[in-house]
Amino acid sequence: MPLAAAIVKYAALHREIFGEYEYSLLPQPSEANLQRIAKPFLQFLVDEGLREIEAVVLIMQTAQGYGFLETVPAYYALSWLTPKLLESFLKAALPVGNELDDQHGFQVSVIMLLRNGFLHLWDRMVEVEQLGGQIQYGVHVHAIRRRGIGTGTSSMSSAVEISLRREQPQEAGPSPVKAAAADGREPEEFFSLYPSPAEVKDKEKSLGDFGETIACDYLFVAAPFDVVLPLLGDGATPDETEYINALRPMTLVASLFTSTSVMERPIESMVEGSKLTGEGRLYSARHTRRVNDPSLPPPADGREPYVGHQLYNGRMAPADAKAAQATMVKDLAAYGYQDVQVGKYCAFNTYLPHLDVEGVCVHKYPWKLLANQGQNHTVWIGSSACYESVLDVVNYNNLLLDREHIKLVD
Ligand SMILES: Cc1cc2nc3c(=O)[nH]c(=O)nc-3n(C[C@H](O)[C@H](O)[C@H](O)COP(=O)(O)OP(=O)(O)OC[C@H]3O[C@@H](n4cnc5c(N)ncnc54)[C@H](O)[C@@H]3O)c2cc1C
Repeated sequence: MPLAAAIVKYAALHREIFGEYEYSLLPQPSEANLQRIAKPFLQFLVDEGLREIEAVVLIMQTAQGYGFLETVPAYYALSWLTPKLLESFLKAALPVGNELDDQHGFQVSVIMLLRNGFLHLWDRMVEVEQLGGQIQYGVHVHAIRRRGIGTGTSSMSSAVEISLRREQPQEAGPSPVKAAAADGREPEEFFSLYPSPAEVKDKEKSLGDFGETIACDYLFVAAPFDVVLPLLGDGATPDETEYINALRPMTLVASLFTSTSVMERPIESMVEGSKLTGEGRLYSARHTRRVNDPSLPPPADGREPYVGHQLYNGRMAPADAKAAQATMVKDLAAYGYQDVQVGKYCAFNTYLPHLDVEGVCVHKYPWKLLANQGQNHTVWIGSSACYESVLDVVNYNNLLLDREHIKLVD
């Protein structure tokens, strides 16, 4: 079957299983369809006669850090690889252009890149909406208590209490870096490499000086859930604990490096064809200058800036980062990058917190969590609740707001 036909078949199958839906969270399918997707994605493609799209989804799924096709549950690939996304890929490859929009309702531009970087968008939102005064930066949470659960007694005057320590005096500000510069102190580094959940509480304790407790009506958890779980102590409900313990984070490494080699393609994807792939291998390298503006002249010092990506199952421990970097440098040499110098090497080790096949298809955790949102004065949001993308995180928030899924119970 040609690739185009396979994509059309995939899109039809997706719509058959999940129907049309708003927001990004896949609606809970029928029992029969849950069984149909209860497997890793590659197996799903094989069983459904869709192996032809493997090369395309390798780039769209694995090269984005969204798991290895052999192991990632089909649910997560089906979440990301929507009919619209694949149809837009197909349309971009066809010579007939926009006429397809009219004929078939295909949508083309689903991918965009922010020239000034992603953080700039949020800094601007804070500025334009004048939110600075409502955001508290540089806060380390030590413990969270909720009324009537665990150590949170039923006589607590507020529904939620949070013990915390501030890196610096409370201050409205566009970013912790700028705020710290204003009072002459450097902010503590907010680690990309999270300590393991067991170490989180010890680390916070060891920092000491938790003089402050704030009282709140509700708790919205937007940090990785397994990082927050130890802060709840014995105050997590069995349902919350079960969901969070079922999450399996991965590690995405994003590294800045320079090389004297000038690669022509804006993004070199190493997951295609016979190139080396698998856990920890360099699977894409982005040529920053070409992505930002291909007409920019080469840097004066002749060192081209790149961003490299590697993906690991599970949480990378700090001790493993050195070996991971060595693998990247070796792979870069194999791909012809010369005179490589690695700058920042950032391992995001709470990346793609996801459930296994059983967690999705037997326990149905994603939909259970949704149904329980707002209970115990708590709303669980962010990528641990849905999927590791800005679109998914924002859409999940909108789903909760628009559909009144949050039942805030006093
Ligand atoms: C290298 C990289 C590239 C990516 N590229 C894209 C992309 O191109 N497109 C896309 O859509 N998505 C991309 N993503 C994914 C996207 O960034 C995430 O899905 C999204 O940011 C998740 O949002 P969130 O609010 O759940 O968590 P985050 O944005 O991670 O926010 C969690 C916040 O909680 C804070 N926090 C953690 N622990 C504590 C604590 N104990 N106390 C106080 N605060 C705490 C953290 O400092 C952080 O600010 C990328 C991710 C990475 C790592």
